[in-house]
Amino acid sequence: GEEGASSESSAEPRQVYGAAWSPARAEPVSAPQLRAWNASLAEQLGLTIEKELCASVFSGNRLMDGMQPYAACYGGHQFGQWAGQLGDGRVINLGEWQAADDQNWTLQLKGAGRTPYSRHADGRAVLRSSIREYLCSEAMHHLGIPTTRALSLVETGDMVVRDMFYDGNPQNEPGAIVCRAAPGFLRFGHFELPAVRGELDVLRALLHYSVRHDYPELAPLLATSTSDAERVAVYLQWFSAVCDRSMNLVVAWQRVGFVHGVLNTDNMAVNGLTIDYGPYGWIDDYDPNCTPNTTDAGQRRYRFGAQPEIVRWNLFRLANAIYPLIGEAEPLQDAVDVIAVELSRRLHQMMADKLGVDAEDLAASPVKELLEQALTAQETDMTLFFRSLSEFGRSHDNRSLQVCVQSAFYAGELRAENLDLYRRLEEQYRLLIRDPDDESRRDRMKHCNPRYVLRNYLAQQAIDAAHQGDWSVFDELSAVLRQPYADQPQQAARFGALRPDWARSRAGCSML
Ligand code: AMP
Ligand code: MG
Ligand code: MG
Repeated sequence: GEEGASSESSAEPRQVYGAAWSPARAEPVSAPQLRAWNASLAEQLGLTIEKELCASVFSGNRLMDGMQPYAACYGGHQFGQWAGQLGDGRVINLGEWQAADDQNWTLQLKGAGRTPYSRHADGRAVLRSSIREYLCSEAMHHLGIPTTRALSLVETGDMVVRDMFYDGNPQNEPGAIVCRAAPGFLRFGHFELPAVRGELDVLRALLHYSVRHDYPELAPLLATSTSDAERVAVYLQWFSAVCDRSMNLVVAWQRVGFVHGVLNTDNMAVNGLTIDYGPYGWIDDYDPNCTPNTTDAGQRRYRFGAQPEIVRWNLFRLANAIYPLIGEAEPLQDAVDVIAVELSRRLHQMMADKLGVDAEDLAASPVKELLEQALTAQETDMTLFFRSLSEFGRSHDNRSLQVCVQSAFYAGELRAENLDLYRRLEEQYRLLIRDPDDESRRDRMKHCNPRYVLRNYLAQQAIDAAHQGDWSVFDELSAVLRQPYADQPQQAARFGALRPDWARSRAGCSML
């Protein structure tokens, strides 16, 4: 953190100018209890710490030697509007950690109390949302999708007041703190704020920092640049690299049915990781209009089907932010122009992978359109549908498509009015399957269509049990989600089935 900081260290909410961060101290909590510890991540980080110390260190009560806690300063566009300074309002970064493999990681506590960026809020997080963050970021990691990680979850022993969205009455809820870990936490909004304020030195310092930390392959190029033109060329390469990672990220979300829920520019990281697990949701029945975010129920800006377009919009904001360092619009415009084309190419390739077919064949076939119609014709579970599809087509197995994917129908079976649609889909899909007995196609599909995802109601079951002091559901669910592409037949009934009817009103997407 050589990028300069305000000398003040009070948590007094304020505008912070000319700096990318402020020193910050966690506010002590009364009775920290370690509830979850990610031993395999700790091992990957090369972090050895006595178990007795975990609760106090990862609640922020105790600083270890070398920790230099700070809160980051950033802005952002929220729901399409410029929101000014936001910053880490409830996050305290403990500092950087060099892992065994030499990779630098930042460790941060979410819910550790007020910072200069807390505005009117309390800087705390509740147990419910901390469990959701922990479970989902780990599920995402094991799906092979870039994400921040969760190292620990500590219950603070203090109560936090929140407006629960389902009854509108303020409630006391147990507070908790998750320690998140990632190679970096720089957000698009980090760049937008100094750009808006005309703080070009801060903007440049952030970009150089990101080159060194997030895109080290570009660092030698930057270090040896001797002219502005050479530096600008590196900045443009950096931007294209951010575009590349962001596109891969959103395509992966679409593949597994993840809806982020709040894709504001302050919730997108320039290193291409999934960040800020808030009101996210997972698609049960396939519905591109699904949004788990109740505050977005009207406009549905961040609905499932809109995510690629929103990522493109956010990249456009990032391009605007770095424009003062580039000096001319054209090369940025060029970089932005390729996004739309490139995104649809990658989305198409992803769908070909899910179907186990050749991308060019798929482009020339009506299967994608028929599939979209079929999935929306009646309530159909996205995860179960694609997973079952990998069993379809073997020559010795005469099952029709509708029978093969039957477990995905919320109605229990295909409705009569959709028979014809399914017949056409089956006919066209068969034409794309080159060798029906090719096991490699089945393998390819199974590595791309997960058997297990973090269904909203499963997360809620883990939360309900934890509120009763029972962490076994959390543990079992975590274990299943560590191998999301494995069949794990003994877990299927409990963790891999259709969302039950009683959970319908709790499923984010269906409650709207
Ligand atoms: P989010 O919508 O969670 O991405 O948060 C937007 C902004 O509000 C960020 O600057 C957060 O740090 C801040 N924020 C959210 N919740 C709290 C809280 N309980 N206390 C302080 N700041 C918060
Ligand atoms: Mg956020
Ligand atoms: Mg948040």
